[in-house]
Amino acid sequence: MKRIFKFLLLALTVLLVVVLYRTFTFKAGAALQVLDREEVSVDPKVLGGAIRYPTISHKAEMIDEEAFAGFHHYLDSVFPLTDSLLEKETINGYSLIYTWKGSDPDLDPLVLMAHQDVVPVEYSTQEQWDFPPFSGSVTDKYIYGRGTLDDKGCLVAIVYAVENLLKSGFKPKRTIYLCFGHDEEISGRDGARIIARTLEERGVRAAMVLDEGGTLSRGIVPGIEKEVALIGTAEKGYISLELSVDLPGGHSSMPEKRTALGILNQALYTLEENPFPERLTPPLEGFVDNVGPELPFIQKMAFANTWLFKPLIYNVYRQSASGAALIHTTQVPTIFQSGVKDNIVPNRAKAVVNYRLLPGDSPEEVLKRSKEIVNDTAVRISVYEDVAIPASPISPYRSEPYERLGSAVRAIYPEAVVSPYLVLGATDGRYFYSISQHVYRFSPFPMEKEDLPRIHGINERVSVQGFENSVSFYATLLKDWGNQ
Ligand SMILES: [Zn+2]
Repeated sequence: MKRIFKFLLLALTVLLVVVLYRTFTFKAGAALQVLDREEVSVDPKVLGGAIRYPTISHKAEMIDEEAFAGFHHYLDSVFPLTDSLLEKETINGYSLIYTWKGSDPDLDPLVLMAHQDVVPVEYSTQEQWDFPPFSGSVTDKYIYGRGTLDDKGCLVAIVYAVENLLKSGFKPKRTIYLCFGHDEEISGRDGARIIARTLEERGVRAAMVLDEGGTLSRGIVPGIEKEVALIGTAEKGYISLELSVDLPGGHSSMPEKRTALGILNQALYTLEENPFPERLTPPLEGFVDNVGPELPFIQKMAFANTWLFKPLIYNVYRQSASGAALIHTTQVPTIFQSGVKDNIVPNRAKAVVNYRLLPGDSPEEVLKRSKEIVNDTAVRISVYEDVAIPASPISPYRSEPYERLGSAVRAIYPEAVVSPYLVLGATDGRYFYSISQHVYRFSPFPMEKEDLPRIHGINERVSVQGFENSVSFYATLLKDWGNQ
């Protein structure tokens, strides 16, 4: 008995020593190189002006030609050097490729992306804006309007950075492409997809592609006060499944035991009772490794010892919807249709369930798994509207392009914690894996918790300081990549 007790005590001590050792030696990956911040001259009204063109994405066949043409003309007029010195092509009517030719053809090009289109403003919310959403109003502190955060802010900051570098006489060794799609908000199929295909056909292999998607947040990651730069190294996939049941209904005064509505209801319930298992994918493992060392002691200890505390970590993620979405493939019913009158048993019931896939879960597996779980031949399950997008490949975060990107962030925000991340939504970046394995997603505009609902929401805005910093960020990045 005594020996068992002694043995247990020894085992516990060893465990404690290992856990504490790992906690105290827990440090973020590679040290980032220190880059000098590229100073720029910026007028916030230039972004305000860009907001005034309502380049709204409704449907592919409803493009506002005038708005896009006006926007293109506007870019030419406010960035005259870019207009005259870079080659500009219009792709598929509205998308743009700018080519800034480098002097050394042996260096793989750099691709910077953003999208021109914006989401509509819900009519009923128009009155709640402090300034009309397409006025591009500029105050001492903020630039307001639809598209400032998503994604004209990035687009204008990128071209502004190029304009500043051209003015300073900078000539890149490496070719630089600026790629601006026009339909990101409705899938990017006619814009970014065609741009990527065009570059691929020309034999372009890019050293790095940078699109929107990751954020520079302040106070959003619990336990960390300073800025956290989340660089999206992958994005989730997308599929919806349609479940339908056809069963003769009839008069509600003498119903059959099984009804279309009841069966469908049972199927949805069974799916909900069987969520996808939780797991850490490489972007999240990278997040744990890079953000973990900055956390308060107890959390740091958990993150440093995932081999022991994984259930604890999952529990933390599970607390919020956005956290839970990072660790499993989500499923949620989004459409339910059945019935026309209160005294008729419907012949048909139909529902749609939307899935967002973790890297590693394929659309085919999701369909197969759902059929197995529902396990009822009365329920037909098929892919909704033929859209099945697998999760993107995963761009490596232990790589030179990633580290150089992180260094450019640190040039502007020296204290920032830089970390890989999994992007929950879809970006145009996913089309660019055909020309590069280094596709990253990051927008340099600082975001606080209260800014999150502004994306696609009311009073979308960026700060004047944040805009200037963003131009500086792209200029620093371009100079670093352009020099070597
Ligand atoms: Zn966007």
